[in-house]
Amino acid sequence: MSSRPVLIPAADAAGAAGAARAYVRARRDFDWAGVRRELGLAAGGDANLGRLATDRHLGTARETRTALRCLTPGGATRSLSYRDLALASDRFARWLRSRGIGRGDTVFLYLGRVPELYVAALGALKNGSVVAPLFSAFGPEPLRTRLLLGHAVALVTTPTLYERRVRAIRASVPSLREVLTVGSRDARATDDVADFDGALAAVAANGAAGAPTAEDDVALLHFTSGTTGTPKGALHVHGAALMHYMTGRYALDLHDDDVYWCTADPGWVTGTSYGLLAPLLHGATCVVDAGEFDVERWYSILDSERVSIWYTAPTAVRMLMRAGPEPAARHRRPALRVIASVGEPLNPEAVWWGLEHLGLPILDNWWQTETGGIMIANEPGQPVKPGSMGRPLPGVEACIVRRRDGGSVTPVDEPCVEGELALRTPWPSMFRGYLGEADRYRRCFHDGLYLTGDLARRDADGYFWFVGRADDVIKSAGHLIGPFEVESVLLEHAAVAEAGVVGIPDPLAGEVVKAFVMPKPGRVGDAALRDELLAHARRRLGAAIAPKDVQFVAALPRTRSGKILRRLLRARELGLPEGDLSTLESA
Ligand code: AMP
Repeated sequence: MSSRPVLIPAADAAGAAGAARAYVRARRDFDWAGVRRELGLAAGGDANLGRLATDRHLGTARETRTALRCLTPGGATRSLSYRDLALASDRFARWLRSRGIGRGDTVFLYLGRVPELYVAALGALKNGSVVAPLFSAFGPEPLRTRLLLGHAVALVTTPTLYERRVRAIRASVPSLREVLTVGSRDARATDDVADFDGALAAVAANGAAGAPTAEDDVALLHFTSGTTGTPKGALHVHGAALMHYMTGRYALDLHDDDVYWCTADPGWVTGTSYGLLAPLLHGATCVVDAGEFDVERWYSILDSERVSIWYTAPTAVRMLMRAGPEPAARHRRPALRVIASVGEPLNPEAVWWGLEHLGLPILDNWWQTETGGIMIANEPGQPVKPGSMGRPLPGVEACIVRRRDGGSVTPVDEPCVEGELALRTPWPSMFRGYLGEADRYRRCFHDGLYLTGDLARRDADGYFWFVGRADDVIKSAGHLIGPFEVESVLLEHAAVAEAGVVGIPDPLAGEVVKAFVMPKPGRVGDAALRDELLAHARRRLGAAIAPKDVQFVAALPRTRSGKILRRLLRARELGLPEGDLSTLESA
């Protein structure tokens, strides 16, 4: 834990004491009924996330305000007011119904950050359908796996993605009835897809957008990765709106006059919960950038869009740090008052760097797909401990536990002792199941606690410090990657007998994926095969998941029961001493 000083938000000790009192008071006085009142969510009333995020603003001063400011690297900009967004999403809901797609049917979104993605997400929510966003850098294999697991009925994508990745797998997903493409179609497009704008233009301009929705109705399906088996489909409900709203206020200080920029892609949970839902529930203006990371553009967006709240990720912060202080000094940030970060550990240096070069500390916070919303945060205005994820938000109870043989857990009460991070259930955005995997879901809970799979410590002041994952999943540039999914694709290759995949530390991405491969008898693990395997994995998995390196080995270490000892592979790669290896070997 950091021995460096705590960052005090106010200039003097009285300010610090005031902040500490405010934290205690906010937690003591907090109740969900207050959040419900602010959101206008009557018990038993319509809890539809899509309508709460759009229609709720109609008839208020927010109706004509900009909801989405969509930017492109080419300079083209499209803005949608809350009214525009409400009407367009209504139309999409009506289109779904006109195609017989209703409540509980899964609508997949597989495209970049363009306005239609947001319209479709909100419209599908309004229709009571289940929204499943997918990262557009996924290759055909992760795409097919998820479409099958999620029983995809409809898919919104682009003509290019359709031709390159969907067409070939479409027949293997028999549930998929409707495909809409956004943007001009190229010459190869055929009639088995419909055009997004054309489809919406064909439905009635007015009419109901959907039936009332209960808080427990399923709204979203987010895929996340485990160490073993297929990806897990975490199911989230409409009542999560309470959590998105509350955390938007406490962790990000969102208000309706804010210009807010979340850099995460909606294909990952952060880009949906905080790139779409939380800011719209607050009536803020959301900046959406279709481009990839670019130092100059990012700094100029903060300036020209007058961004006031910026939610980003450690990999991006590290890339800005690598570009040095000069670009930061050259650009203004006239409105910026909160910078927050999530997804991977944020080094203490990054917090100090933010303070020195951006004028604000970068506020780390913690959550995961299963929690649906931010749980632990360095709240704006509160003392920051650089290197710590912060403290539990109001309405959230977090603790450190140790698992016992037989499944029970014991709390670790002493400060600064490592254990598994656990959360007291329930909270409004808690996932309600892993699709089709009731047992896997049940195993996450013990004694009224949800066990997160993360190792952490809590200090005497109640701040949580991330230690690592309890399992073998890989975090690369903020993306959670299941080693099993990568190993399975490598095993498809005719030259591969066995494969073990691990995350190797990387100064920019946090971790990068590395594969250890045992070639089949008669095949030589040479540079040509290495390049062939890298290309194969990239083609099948997409750039975000594919390994960056392959190393050939004569054998893979396994447990007595035959499981690959990925931690041992990793330890060997990192040159850990023999002592550590033998402990791992017996694990
Ligand atoms: P995902 O479900 O893809 O959002 O990934 C969640 C996982 O990312 C967590 O279980 C952590 O392992 C990691 N993570 C998220 N936020 C942080 C953070 N602030 N510090 C360290 N690790 C984090």
